[in-house]
Amino acid sequence: MRGDGARRCDILIRNATLLPMAETREILLGGFVAVSGHLVADVGLEGDAGTGWTAPCEIDAQGAIVHPGFIEAHLHVNAQTCRGYFRGDASRGATGGPNYADWKAALDPEDEAAATRLAAVELLRHGFTCFVEPGSAFEPDAVVEAAGAVGIRCSVADPYLWDDTAIMQVIGGLASDALFARVPPTRERCLSALGGQLFRNRDEDGIAHGHVALYGEGTASDELMRAAKALADREGVILNTHLGFDAGVVTAMERALGQSRFAHLAGLGVVGPNTTFVHMNILRDDEVGIVQETGPSIVWCPQAYVSRGLPLIAPTRLPALKRAGVAVALGTDSARQSSLGDAMFLAVQLSAEAGAGLAAEDVIEMLTLHGARAAGLDHMLGRLAPGFRADLVIRGRGVIELGPCIDPAHQLVTVGHGPTADTVLVNGRIVMRGGRPTKVDEMSVIDAAQRSARSVAGRLGLPPPGRWPRITAS
Ligand SMILES: [Zn+2]
Repeated sequence: MRGDGARRCDILIRNATLLPMAETREILLGGFVAVSGHLVADVGLEGDAGTGWTAPCEIDAQGAIVHPGFIEAHLHVNAQTCRGYFRGDASRGATGGPNYADWKAALDPEDEAAATRLAAVELLRHGFTCFVEPGSAFEPDAVVEAAGAVGIRCSVADPYLWDDTAIMQVIGGLASDALFARVPPTRERCLSALGGQLFRNRDEDGIAHGHVALYGEGTASDELMRAAKALADREGVILNTHLGFDAGVVTAMERALGQSRFAHLAGLGVVGPNTTFVHMNILRDDEVGIVQETGPSIVWCPQAYVSRGLPLIAPTRLPALKRAGVAVALGTDSARQSSLGDAMFLAVQLSAEAGAGLAAEDVIEMLTLHGARAAGLDHMLGRLAPGFRADLVIRGRGVIELGPCIDPAHQLVTVGHGPTADTVLVNGRIVMRGGRPTKVDEMSVIDAAQRSARSVAGRLGLPPPGRWPRITAS
């Protein structure tokens, strides 16, 4: 509406194929979103009388898909630059030398920032507006600052809280003397560090958040688990932790505890709706019932699931749980040999193999509503509705992979899941336009990531990766 009575907002997006993710899940053909400040002010269908809104910045989506920003619910963001040096198998270096954990231990704050900027731009291009860094960045300040420089939302936690790392010897590549020296596995350190990132939540309008995370996968004592859960309860945030990544670790934990680790944690009283478990690649029959009774979020990382060789020996039960009403989000884990957007495609394909095929609509729920819940941010993210944060994505109208777009959800998840975002808003700010970040220069981001990767490899003495020889012009 451009006549009298129109309300004024800051940004008005019109002519959208809009997926607001409302309770009824309608797709609005000819939909609009009005943005005021950092919030969504209104969402609806544009009628003959217009939208009822005017704005100094009006964006005609030309019928493109518009959706709430996807949430990457588990990303070791500082590992983004080790691509090539460490491929699918976390347990080996490129030449049998330093392992993946040694790489992580060698990162300085500028390395973590360079990796984060690379990941952040990649996320925006794939339609993600938020990522959860699960307590594996040594300098959360560096991650938050780099994410803010690109303009993406994130939630961070204190680095490597673990006080019993014996189980890690089962996966040699994740254990490293250098890593243990940098973040000692002592209860004193962990108990004093717990909650160190929660101050970020005081800025209720910001894009940096804090949560409680323990590394998990059997590396936390009962005392540390209880302390972390009590803190998460008190502060109204999630407790995020790994569990059930690898079959060998799962079996070792069962042997040690006489029951599954998850059943043990439930018995401790540290499992609830504000607990987020990452992986759960292996779930025993008794654990399925506990999940349904206690209501945690689960983050499935399909690439990590494949990387452990699990599809044939332990078909995932998470798609069936999702379809039964459990909150299952999606994550990448570390993007060593996939892009930040491949999880949605893999989820469809791998769930079909497991006999509980996920529909594209299921996957979009996992990326939005369930992702927000897994991050503990479902009161502000995951939907486009008045009062929610204006984190949204306008996909490219001229992208071939998004054609013919007769079925927007299916098209987006199964074919157009690549870097097909055109315009991205985070917290009401335009951070990507025409497929390019607005706040940083892409080439500078790439160059800094390359410099960092070479520098880390040099410090570790890693030769150039890959099987083929390299010839340089003289
Ligand atoms: Zn992880």
